[in-house]
Amino acid sequence: MSFIEASSKKKKKKGMGAARFFRKVQSCCTFTLNVSPVVLLSLILAWAFWAYHFRLCLYLIGNQAILQGCLYMIFFEPLFGLTVWSFYKASRTSPGNTIDTAKQGESEELDIEEGYQDNHDSEYVQLLPSHLPARNDANHLSETDDQSNSEQGTSSSPAILSLDDNNAPIRLASSSSLSITVKRDGAKRYCQKCKMDKCDRSHHCRSCKRCILKMDHHCPWINNCVGFYNYKFFYLFIVYGSWFCIYVFSTTLPLTIRIMKQPMGIFEIDFNWLFLCFVSVVFGLFLIPFSLFHTRQLCKNRTTIEFYEKANYRLGSRQKRMGSRRQMIDIMRSRYFNPWELGTRTNVEQVLGKSTMTWFLPIGIPSGNGHTFPLNDHAYDTLAIDEVDDVY
Ligand SMILES: [Zn+2]
Ligand SMILES: [Zn+2]
Repeated sequence: MSFIEASSKKKKKKGMGAARFFRKVQSCCTFTLNVSPVVLLSLILAWAFWAYHFRLCLYLIGNQAILQGCLYMIFFEPLFGLTVWSFYKASRTSPGNTIDTAKQGESEELDIEEGYQDNHDSEYVQLLPSHLPARNDANHLSETDDQSNSEQGTSSSPAILSLDDNNAPIRLASSSSLSITVKRDGAKRYCQKCKMDKCDRSHHCRSCKRCILKMDHHCPWINNCVGFYNYKFFYLFIVYGSWFCIYVFSTTLPLTIRIMKQPMGIFEIDFNWLFLCFVSVVFGLFLIPFSLFHTRQLCKNRTTIEFYEKANYRLGSRQKRMGSRRQMIDIMRSRYFNPWELGTRTNVEQVLGKSTMTWFLPIGIPSGNGHTFPLNDHAYDTLAIDEVDDVY
């Protein structure tokens, strides 16, 4: 080996080492940046717990306001507990993504048709519109799916359309074959980064580097995406967080004002009380409008992305036959059209669960599978989904 070759190899090795080092530094910085808001919020919550109990309530108890101090504590506990519980669940629960679903599907050793036959009577009818009786046929589903895939010349990823009795996912059909949303040119929605088809309501998150099911937004405060499986927890977190801020502010401020009005009261004021007021105002001003917005979105069965962005919907063949002027139109682009709105009660049930007993607790999983969603009748009429080929 010549001297020049050896030195160029050495330089190359050095360059690769430097690149690896910078990549490590970059990933370290990214990790710190991502985790910082969660750590900050956790510290604020822990401090609020300490300050409220040991600086505010104990002050009241020690100054002949025992009942007031105890009552403040009693109402504080459930609000704080529910806020922290929802926060933990929202940040630790995966919103669901197409890559994990595909991997899960591959690892499952379930036979597609067998799985479908075992479950089609219950789950499948819920997932697809009620006025499509012919589509509740197992053979038909398989044929249509195969046909659709072969026609498009692609191998679609398996989707989970149903859960068995033990909540284990069952592969039934490709996700894309059931999509009603498409790209601007009418082609299937496909993620170049995940190298997978996108199902309805899923979007690619740059932070998570995944296509998230029923993606709402990426929240830095929980360092997680808000999507299909954790939207309920996130929603409860912001709602309880709002009530928590209102409660802390409304109990701390009057006491602070009362003490300040007393002679020499200014010297008795605890810095922690003032900071409790300040933090509850800052977070309350952010959380209250945010939770009201999400309550509206929940009742409308609409994600934040759907609220802000236009979507392209595939039109069925009936729409194309309606007139020569419409012959070429097979896409409808709209921001206000909401095919998933099923009435307030059903919309809420889809996210919070069927049982009202568990609506306000951060437990349970949402209805459905995150890949396909029931459509309303208006969507069927508007999109003219009246034929099997138009749906699958
Ligand atoms: Zn993606
Ligand atoms: Zn994300």
